Amino acid sequence: MYQEIVADIAFAVEKEKRKESDVNLLVVSKTFSAADIVPILDQGARIFGENRVQEAQNKWPELKQKYENVELHLIGPLQSNKTAEAVALFDVIHTVDRKKIADYIAAEQIKQNRQLQLFIQVNIGNEPQKAGVSLDGLADFYAYCTDEKQLNIIGLMCIPPAQNDSGPYFSLLYKNAKKLGIEGLSMGMSADFKTAIRLGATYVRVGSAIFGKRG
Ligand SMILES: *Cc1c(COP(=O)(O)O)cnc(C)c1O
Repeated sequence: MYQEIVADIAFAVEKEKRKESDVNLLVVSKTFSAADIVPILDQGARIFGENRVQEAQNKWPELKQKYENVELHLIGPLQSNKTAEAVALFDVIHTVDRKKIADYIAAEQIKQNRQLQLFIQVNIGNEPQKAGVSLDGLADFYAYCTDEKQLNIIGLMCIPPAQNDSGPYFSLLYKNAKKLGIEGLSMGMSADFKTAIRLGATYVRVGSAIFGKRG
């Protein structure tokens, strides 16, 4: 399954005349065990996403010792009391979504002398139950993160409303990233990563299409 997705992405990248190095596959390994992840590592995958700090801490330190150059991404909500662990374990966080968490990340990075790559999560469909800053608040929040907190914000991330066509939401995220002058776009999952590649994704986050259904 992994090789199939890699081939699908390569095909989409070619078709859309994107640069191969600009589109990264983030293998979403949440809920899957180390035993499930090892075969994917053996096939060459090095960029992985987890949505819980605790779960990632249980699986990844050992895997990171065995496999060089693993890049670990946090794609789930970050609670402030988990910031120290998150900054220590992850290389990239996709879910910066409020001032408090920006403050905590900034403080921890100084303490640990680390500089992560960060995405601002945008609540692109304005859904009350979803995390993310609203489009209205995005410019101010971006300025706060970069100017006041010196955070290395490399892009925007979104999870579009489940039932709708993702295309218009991806386009909207793209436009807003352009407006801010940032390149990174974390968008597209198993069901819609080809659409996301067409509309500018730099990271597609694919789980079930690689591992099968989550239990
Ligand atoms: C679980 C998850 C994914 C992967 O979803 P699939 O449909 O299994 O590919 C992507 N992004 C986030 C934020 C997730 O929580």
